[in-house]
Amino acid sequence: MTNSHKIHHVDYAVVGSGIAGLRGAIELSAAGNVLVLAKSNLNDSAAAWAQGGIAVALSDEDEIGLHEQDTVNAGDGLCRPQAVALLVEEGPKYISQLIEWGTEFDRAGTKLAFTREAAHSRSRILHAHGDSTGREISRALLARAHSIPHLHLRAHAFTTELITESGRVTGLRFIDETDGTLHELHANAVLLATGGVGRLYRETTNPEVATGDGMGIAYDAGAVLSDMEFMQFHPTALAIQGAPRFLLSEALRGEGGVLRNIGLERFMKKYHEAQELAPRDVVARAIVSEMQRTQSTHVYLDMTKKSQEFLKKRFPR
Ligand SMILES: Cc1cc2nc3c(=O)[nH]c(=O)nc-3n(C[C@H](O)[C@H](O)[C@H](O)COP(=O)(O)OP(=O)(O)OC[C@H]3O[C@@H](n4cnc5c(N)ncnc54)[C@H](O)[C@@H]3O)c2cc1C
Repeated sequence: MTNSHKIHHVDYAVVGSGIAGLRGAIELSAAGNVLVLAKSNLNDSAAAWAQGGIAVALSDEDEIGLHEQDTVNAGDGLCRPQAVALLVEEGPKYISQLIEWGTEFDRAGTKLAFTREAAHSRSRILHAHGDSTGREISRALLARAHSIPHLHLRAHAFTTELITESGRVTGLRFIDETDGTLHELHANAVLLATGGVGRLYRETTNPEVATGDGMGIAYDAGAVLSDMEFMQFHPTALAIQGAPRFLLSEALRGEGGVLRNIGLERFMKKYHEAQELAPRDVVARAIVSEMQRTQSTHVYLDMTKKSQEFLKKRFPR
């Protein structure tokens, strides 16, 4: 403790206001009071940027066992079976809960509308407002969080370190970026939900907040980090020099988009039998190989089979 810090106490501290932090905070609020800290605006997160959708075995033509098998296959032997089972078995319950809490997924008539995406053998991707799925889920979770009296949210609170006593985390320190004041927050437990590290790369589709702070903070406090080599390189992003790498959703290929090299030839057949619907890592590597082979800086994502009207409605962003 230092004299220059303002001291606060809370039962549970949550760092991050993305989908993980908000959902965790709502759960923790059943056991005590909660403070959520975010280093930027509350809706500045990868979660709010997620476009294409969220996979869940909820449609009439789907089965949890199929979702499990597809996930294990896409993981190419690297998935933890228990983690996959948990995801696919509990997914339907938590998606239904998001709907109860006001998330408006797109519908075809009265039924939920499911899209096909790479590596899935069924149409099982729910989406919202076309390609604003993350923004809609974040909106519903924030509204839910705001409705809980003993759950508080603080924006522009940049967490810098964990406080430990005898090897146990007892709180954290943060800077209020609006006025530069220093704070100590003491808590029974701290949940780090600070998202990914995409911004460490020159080319990224991630928001500015994705700088891996939580991993650094945890490491400094003595945590063991694992699986750090698993980094998703999304196959398609807009390649315009000088412009941000706007992510071109997986759902574009799910809706029939095809990849062509600089000579306008389709090439995915050479790399995987599922072609454009192969797992993302396969498609990403195929694109790089094709760019190297043709000595070009980009490939094309051809959506010309779809009408302008369809594309504007399905992918308004
Ligand atoms: C463009 C894009 C499209 C995507 N599309 C999809 C999709 O269609 N389907 C899908 O399943 N996934 C998609 N994803 C991935 C998905 O968005 C993320 O996996 C998920 O949102 C991560 O949620 P999170 O809560 O862990 O982290 P985030 O949503 O990134 O939240 C991190 C939070 O931590 C806070 N934070 C970070 N450091 C600090 C600090 N030092 N102090 C205080 N606060 C801090 C941030 O301010 C933020 O509130 C997409 C990602 C991107 C970038």
